[in-house]
Amino acid sequence: MRIALVSEHASPLAAIGAVDAGGQNVHVAELASGLTRLGHDVVVYTRRDAVELPSSVRTDDGYDVVHLDAGPAERLAKDDLWPLMPRFADALRRHLQSRPADVVHAHFWMSGWAATRATRGLGIPTFVTFHALGSVKQRHQGDADTSPAERVDVELAVATRAAGVVATCRDEVAELAAMGVDLERVDVVPCGVDVRHFTPDAAPLDDPPRRQPYRIVSVGRLVPRKGYATVVESLVDLPGVELVVAGGHVDDGHVEAEQLRLQALAAGLGVADRVHLIGQVGHFLMPALLSTGDVVVCTPWYEPFGLVPLEAMACGVPVVASAVGGMLDSVADGETGALVPPQDPAALATALRGLLADPARRRAYGRAGVRRARSLYSWDAVATATAEVYEEALVAGVAPKHRASLLPALGPA
Ligand code: UDP
Repeated sequence: MRIALVSEHASPLAAIGAVDAGGQNVHVAELASGLTRLGHDVVVYTRRDAVELPSSVRTDDGYDVVHLDAGPAERLAKDDLWPLMPRFADALRRHLQSRPADVVHAHFWMSGWAATRATRGLGIPTFVTFHALGSVKQRHQGDADTSPAERVDVELAVATRAAGVVATCRDEVAELAAMGVDLERVDVVPCGVDVRHFTPDAAPLDDPPRRQPYRIVSVGRLVPRKGYATVVESLVDLPGVELVVAGGHVDDGHVEAEQLRLQALAAGLGVADRVHLIGQVGHFLMPALLSTGDVVVCTPWYEPFGLVPLEAMACGVPVVASAVGGMLDSVADGETGALVPPQDPAALATALRGLLADPARRRAYGRAGVRRARSLYSWDAVATATAEVYEEALVAGVAPKHRASLLPALGPA
């Protein structure tokens, strides 16, 4: 198949871990690579956000990245990109007319809007993966949500207009149903992890050196909703435990504000000497960092999917995660880690205390995590399942395998 992936703000070539560069960049890069390994011809369309970027780049993994001109060739916050989407859609349409695709798969709501507009009348089935839903963001962030006001309505329109929605977890399916999306048009394919890179044999990073008997590691963009404050607060009840937080980008004003907020919180609670905010860590070094943790902690307020728990599991490190979003599917409670309520430092401290005191259970969870990551979440498995979804749209009579309505719904949390 000739496959066009569209990802307006999240380039597969971006530096991962900056404020607007996280899981979606990794997802698009790995999906593109995985589909290419399956023999498909893959192009990723993204917005040109630096003047020096070439129009088209052939990556080492064998897929192309095309930088479309839409607005200033500089990095803009993703919430400021919406007015540029008509131009992005026009540029995308021109490319699809000169380099036709059999299927288009858009990532994020704005790309979904641009792709459904760009493919109008071209007869190309267009799928969308939202990565995050405006309705969920609005519920959790309220006035702090800087998304354009149209986002929620546009998402429903895109979900209705597209050939189908590729959701990443059952919690997202429930959210789509609540929006009024017909679940017969929704397939579920999870995000994945590079199980060749994320392995239990990574040599642990020796910086920063360990100063306490136990270490917990948290990783992700340094934004409040990732819930690092909850982890810092839990340290009050966890003597002998240090926290290493990786993520953020030194040049970014938002990140600096969050760093200062967390440092002030830690100082106020008397745990500052046990909190290390180490900034952005190259994705390549992530297995080495995760391996230094006795436990990896992911306690966001909400999480559309969450790649870090998969990465930790693949490295054989137990995970304590909030019982939200994709982690309800990926983290097997009592088998590869523990699920705790979000924004609840006391519950987090209780779960961590039990696990840190029990090395045999940590080892068992670690081994089960490796098995779970390798069997269910390799990018090859994800790319294969995604290609099956496309084939159902292109080949008459192919029975759906990943349809949301075929999966057991989530039980009570
Ligand atoms: N990441 C990284 N370096 C950092 C912080 C994060 O490489 O300093 C990577 C992390 O390993 C994961 C991704 O960024 O692959 C974050 O994905 P996740 O789904 O957990 O969160 P998102 O950023 O999409 O909200």
